[in-house]
Order: sequence, then C-alpha cells, then structure tokens
Amino acid sequence: MKVQESNKQNKKCLICGKESKENICKTCENKIQAEAFYKKKKEEGEKK
Ligand SMILES: [Zn+2]
Repeated sequence: MKVQESNKQNKKCLICGKESKENICKTCENKIQAEAFYKKKKEEGEKK
C-alpha cells in the first residue's frame, strides 16, 4: 500500500490554501490571533 508522503509534507493552510507545514500558516495564524484579540477587546468594551 502506497502512502503519499509528499502529501503529508505539503500540507495546505485551511484558511488561505497556501502550502504550509501547519494546518494554518503563520500569516493566517497571526491574522486569526489579531482578530480574536480585537474581538475580545471589543466585547469587553461593550460589556462596560
Ligand atoms: Zn494561510
């Protein structure tokens, strides 16, 4: 049974579809973190 090793190494980012070692590439990771941070900040602000 042949397993495509290249498939394992060339993962694609789930967000932008770019080749990445992770499921989510660094660019998108930073983007998500920034958005989450902004959202959290906004929600905290609305609660007050
Ligand atoms: Zn990405």
